[in-house]
Amino acid sequence: MTINSKAVMNKNTKLQEQLLCWFRSNKRVLPWRKTYNPYHVWVSEIMLQQTQMERGIQYFTKWIQRFPTLDSVAEATEQEILKYWEGLGYYSRARNLHRAAGILKNQYGSEIPCDIVSLLDLPGVGPYTAAAISSIACNKDVSLVDANVARIYSRIFDIDKQVKSGPGRKAIDKISQELIVPGQMRFYNQALMDLGGLICIPGNPRCSKCPISFHCLAFERGTISQRPVSTKKKKNVSIRMATGLLVHRGRIFIQQRQVGDIWAGLWEFPGGQMENGEHPEQTVVREYLEETRLRVRVTGEITIVTHSYMHYRVTLYCYYCELERESEPVLTAADRYRWIGMAELREFAYPAGHRKLLEYIETNEQDRLVDICSTSLQG
Ligand code: SF4
Repeated sequence: MTINSKAVMNKNTKLQEQLLCWFRSNKRVLPWRKTYNPYHVWVSEIMLQQTQMERGIQYFTKWIQRFPTLDSVAEATEQEILKYWEGLGYYSRARNLHRAAGILKNQYGSEIPCDIVSLLDLPGVGPYTAAAISSIACNKDVSLVDANVARIYSRIFDIDKQVKSGPGRKAIDKISQELIVPGQMRFYNQALMDLGGLICIPGNPRCSKCPISFHCLAFERGTISQRPVSTKKKKNVSIRMATGLLVHRGRIFIQQRQVGDIWAGLWEFPGGQMENGEHPEQTVVREYLEETRLRVRVTGEITIVTHSYMHYRVTLYCYYCELERESEPVLTAADRYRWIGMAELREFAYPAGHRKLLEYIETNEQDRLVDICSTSLQG
């Protein structure tokens, strides 16, 4: 793989001009592009990590209505932050956003800095996000490389190495530095993002509509289907889990995931992974005992929900259960627990599988749960 710097420099002026010109008339209308308010740019960049654009816009709009300023984030409780993030996944992003808002309020007078070094000091802000905030919010001369940009450059320069790391990634970083357009990086970086989202998409790019196809080596050489060079995909692992909605004296048991846990701060119904040869009902009983020291018995099946994460797919078997004998919970896998009424169920933030279970109950099982709760009051 040889990337000729001179060739990059020669090719770049027209390429940059054409891309910027295309962006002026084709840019996506996005809520955070109205004013380039640094707080809006920051929230959008964090939300859009691992999130599709349409979904990101919905969550962003709801978020800004509730948290219109950085101070409003800093002053909110973590529970409320998680509730507004519920369904977006990767909850460490929300917790980091909350922590960073506190730091910005206390140490930066509620201003978001423009320099990369200060930005990198904030929880949840890595090189890409720092570059995005610095260039898009502050129009600093900073380049950025995400999966979109890496894909575009790997095609334009026909890079025959995988671009996530190693020499291929180094080449992409170098190109992105050489393609900085002084005073225009707010627009140039967004032009790349939009090109990657609308035209130079993964799989089959829309080359006939591409404003820079004339500069694209992969297009010229017919190597587009091999660019970017793919990395071996990790196989999706299937996991079977079981959980129990424990009802006692008209109330439902929930527990909050521990600090340091992937879903720290979220609430759930106890449960866990099924062991070899175990029936899901046995898993519920065992998990309750292990996680809470409570002895429960399963009283009925609710449903089976499935949910896919990046590298695994969970099948969750869901049951109602009741206490076999009354005792105080002793938590081993959670920070705190609560007994709540049916009406309070939706006030808490849950991981995806448990949220789907609640949605199922709301749609199909409201009356049954009311009956179970009232029967348990009489028991
Ligand atoms: S010509 Fe096709 S492959 Fe090349 S940059 Fe444009 S859309 Fe991407």
